[in-house]
Amino acid sequence: MTEFTNESVNAIEATLGKVERALDRLQSGSYRKCQVCGAEIEASALTENPTVANCAAHPELL
Ligand SMILES: [Zn+2]
Repeated sequence: MTEFTNESVNAIEATLGKVERALDRLQSGSYRKCQVCGAEIEASALTENPTVANCAAHPELL
């Protein structure tokens, strides 16, 4: 069995949290909308990162 580091676990959990929040937004209808200003997030940004929650003017809060 391969050992993995705490960093790996933290990175996976951070990604999982982003995915869960993206799914929540999808169900509540706020997916594609910036969580700060409500502007529609560009399709290209969502293609690049499907869990992106903010528009280009509002960098993602971690
Ligand atoms: Zn915004």
